[in-house]
Amino acid sequence: MFWNREMETIGEADLEELQLSRLKWTVAQARNIEFYQKAFSRAGVAPGDIECLDDIEKLPFTRKADLREGYPFGFLAVPMHDVVRIHTTSGTTGKPTVVCYTRQDIENWTELIARNLMMIGLTADDVFQNALGYGMFTGGLGFHYGAERIGMTVIPSATGNTKRQIEMIDDFGVTAINCTPSYGLHLAEVAEEMGSSLDSLKTAVFGAEPWSESMRAELERRLGVRAFDSYGMSEMYGPGAGFECEERDGLHIWHDCFLIEIIDPATGERLPDGERGELVVTPLVKEAMPLIRYRTGDITRILTEDCPCGRNGRIDRLSGRADDMLVIRGINVFPSQIEHTLLALPEVGDQFMVYVDRINHLDEMTIEVELNRRYFSGELADLQRIQQKVAGAIREALNLRTTVKLVEPGSLPRFEGKAKRVIDRRGAIW
Ligand SMILES: [Zn+2]
Repeated sequence: MFWNREMETIGEADLEELQLSRLKWTVAQARNIEFYQKAFSRAGVAPGDIECLDDIEKLPFTRKADLREGYPFGFLAVPMHDVVRIHTTSGTTGKPTVVCYTRQDIENWTELIARNLMMIGLTADDVFQNALGYGMFTGGLGFHYGAERIGMTVIPSATGNTKRQIEMIDDFGVTAINCTPSYGLHLAEVAEEMGSSLDSLKTAVFGAEPWSESMRAELERRLGVRAFDSYGMSEMYGPGAGFECEERDGLHIWHDCFLIEIIDPATGERLPDGERGELVVTPLVKEAMPLIRYRTGDITRILTEDCPCGRNGRIDRLSGRADDMLVIRGINVFPSQIEHTLLALPEVGDQFMVYVDRINHLDEMTIEVELNRRYFSGELADLQRIQQKVAGAIREALNLRTTVKLVEPGSLPRFEGKAKRVIDRRGAIW
């Protein structure tokens, strides 16, 4: 189902024309911000230099650190009189980032959320429990407005009080829930303890945290739902900039509102479609806080095949952060690629460690991975076969020869919170 069929299925030529006119508008809007006046003049670029979409490469990047330095209103392009709402990011490291919205910004964001929710089959007949934070975090209010716009019955449950959340699902006949994947698992656990089967639930939207395909399977089984991935960040209004359709094969990015590029995070160079790198986003219709080439730090790639749903353009689900990237013998390697490869091999578990050394001026990568318990007492020949299979799969995925060591189940460190699976022993590069 389409909320806005014309825009969701716009043809390539029309889209490019729209993107170009909106990019020119955004560059002009950004000129209201001192940071961009200076950045454009440093880069020797004027708004008139943007004549085609590829000219975006002439424009400078914007980094998260720039936004932090602009605290609180350094990136505001309109008078405060025109701002109708302020959100902030959580600010786990240093000052939070402030995001301001005009009335039109809120309207555009609402439209995108409405597209997303209708794209996964939700309608005015659905009862939508919105279990995301409603405060300064963009998740709660962002979804709230879009779901109301479709005409859904919205329950602004926010987070916490899990037993009450489950009672509401049962008592109000909730058909769709929106929360973080980790809260989804918690809900499932508490529902199981309470003996609730969550019968009415059919659909779940998960976002705000990375989550794997195996977690999707577990969430779907335990909550009895079809689960969809939601991507966004407050710099792009909030949630909903990218969303899975019913095919669940990558995230649709709303190209009329966001111009995307994939760059090599080490060099800043633009990569061809299909190659994995850092997602860079230029929002095209943001009034209060226009951004130019915002480096998201998220790693993905552009999917070039057409989606059967008929909508344009997709990116792969996010696969890690640019900060985690390793450069091994000139090849960019993301730990998430290793994890992804190992998860597909039944002979090994999901615990691994990566060591990087420089031996005789050459980078060497060693991957230690725990054997699956079922294979642990196998014959030596079996172990050699497994070792070769794992090394072959890693070579295929990374295009890189590595040393693979199989270790005893349970012998590698376990991590609470963010895992530190990579030990780079190469020291400083001069
Ligand atoms: Zn699709």
